[in-house]
Amino acid sequence: MARRKKIYEGKAKILYEGPEPGTLVQYFKDDATAFNAEKKATIEGKGVLNNRLSEHFMTGLNTIGVPTHFIKRLNMREQLIRSVEIIPLEVIVRNVAAGSISKRMGIEEGTPLPRPIVEFSYKDDALGDPLVPEEYIIAFGWASQQDLDDIVALALRVNDFMSGIMFGINIKLVDFKIEIGRVFDGDFQRLIVADEISPDSCRLWDMKTGEKLDKDVFRRDLGDLADAYTEVANRLGLMPKNIGSGSGPKLVN
Ligand code: UDP
Repeated sequence: MARRKKIYEGKAKILYEGPEPGTLVQYFKDDATAFNAEKKATIEGKGVLNNRLSEHFMTGLNTIGVPTHFIKRLNMREQLIRSVEIIPLEVIVRNVAAGSISKRMGIEEGTPLPRPIVEFSYKDDALGDPLVPEEYIIAFGWASQQDLDDIVALALRVNDFMSGIMFGINIKLVDFKIEIGRVFDGDFQRLIVADEISPDSCRLWDMKTGEKLDKDVFRRDLGDLADAYTEVANRLGLMPKNIGSGSGPKLVN
């Protein structure tokens, strides 16, 4: 049977043409990559989990007035999204030192930061997504100063929302990455949250035990990634049981 036209294939997702102009279908693969795709694996059920988790977070954000690209989930692996012009930046918000900031600044992982830090990496695999200052972003025309102010405001709202959700299920939101897209309404442009919000792009630590429930489980070989994501989904009340193992994915609304 003819498949919809593929628009773009990334490491963890595929974008297909949507049913209406201005829409796309976002398909979540089971592929996991780390260290700029040097480490690769297929994790059965990961795509289903991330589709459901990203739906949950994006729906919540839409509800509280933080605009996102999410329209609706279509099936286990696909969601309908608004087509946006992606700003080529990874917008990272950190509450606690971990990963690259710990390495770069010599801050022990787990050290709370004095305030949330928003930083930007330029999305370019060949360059290894280098950290860039606002000066570069404006000089190279990726975003204006006004855009950047709006992006920081959006990122901090996402941080407060996600921190609160995670606090409610005994998880600390250590850091996360979002991507921002432009949509055009006539002569006006708006910035909205795009891509995905899932344990692939967050650091999530159990508040009591410190257990990692995010992609670091894969990056650092700490156990079964689908089990970790299932734990997050379970705590949120989204899944009846582990869909990452056994007889294959099952989903309950
Ligand atoms: N992150 C991401 N995609 C990237 C780089 C980072 O989703 O290409 C997320 C990562 O999962 C973490 C946060 O952004 O939640 C901060 O990542 P960091 O800069 O510490 O990079 P890493 O340690 O992953 O190299």
